[in-house]
Amino acid sequence: MKRKTTRIREFLSSSLVAQAFAGCFVATHIPIISIAAYVASGAAISAQAVLLIILLATIAGTAFAFVVMRHLLLPVGDLARGLKSYRLESHIPRLVKQRDDDLGRLTDEVRALINSLEEKLSRLKRQAFSDTLTGLGNRRWLAEVVSSEIARSRREQKPLSVIVLDIDHFKRINDAFGHDTGDEVLVAIAETAKRVLRPYDLVARLGGEEFCAFLPGTNLKEAMLIAERLREAIAALQIETLRGRHVTASFGVHEGNIAREHFKDMLRIADDYLYQAKGGGRNQVQTIEAQPAVMQTAAPD
Ligand code: GH3
Ligand code: MG
Ligand code: MG
Repeated sequence: MKRKTTRIREFLSSSLVAQAFAGCFVATHIPIISIAAYVASGAAISAQAVLLIILLATIAGTAFAFVVMRHLLLPVGDLARGLKSYRLESHIPRLVKQRDDDLGRLTDEVRALINSLEEKLSRLKRQAFSDTLTGLGNRRWLAEVVSSEIARSRREQKPLSVIVLDIDHFKRINDAFGHDTGDEVLVAIAETAKRVLRPYDLVARLGGEEFCAFLPGTNLKEAMLIAERLREAIAALQIETLRGRHVTASFGVHEGNIAREHFKDMLRIADDYLYQAKGGGRNQVQTIEAQPAVMQTAAPD
């Protein structure tokens, strides 16, 4: 008997339908219970008194049903509002499990669903913004971070320079040593760029064998020195699978006009200088003509 009562109590506390049913059952029986109590009290029965008792008991039953239903269903409104603000504003709702019934379980499930969606979303964002081979950010990532860096440079009136580099005759490296060795070279160059550049510089692989770095707070003269240092570090790389052959890169450097130029403009101008560097014999750093370009002889193959 005791076990049966416990099972009923458990069922009542975990099932929303059972709780709603119990609430409605009590609410609808309040009038009949009131009449029965009135009759049992032995008081003189009058039609007016019965009507009055039925009326009051019906109002009391309705109020009771309202309170029970409100208590049971209030978390549904909280859930709906939380989900709406998540959908519209990406604001993660603070979903607190208030009871241990179906609604409590629904709250738990919605919270778990949002958490797993957020996890997948951040993984996808990471994938969408990074280059899997080198681990550097990609062009999409760069465009995103550089836009806010340009805005900051404008606010703080600080210079911002860009370096674009392209590996020289990379196709020949692939052809002579294979695609895997080519990939190794790309990884080595990414690592060299990270090592030579400063922690706050924004380095990305733009695609293929082209890399780019945005240097906050850096004017053209400083950017030229940094590009030159990177050029030398790349030319000095010893990559085992290249069996003594050296790899070089050509560079275009541009100090952005932060008042007028956007990410794409700065990149396009630096790219023009890069192609001048290719035309000038490769393994060199080029910038606007007014700035003396740093010419180097090609490293030995
Ligand atoms: P240039 O000095 O004029 O830049 O000559 P290049 O050979 O470096 O340029 P080209 O555009 O002719 O060739 C680029 C090569 O880069 C061709 C392509 O197969 C290779 N490449 C692009 N992406 C990858 C990659 O992810 N891995 C490897 N191994 N090779 C790649
Ligand atoms: Mg190339
Ligand atoms: Mg290229």
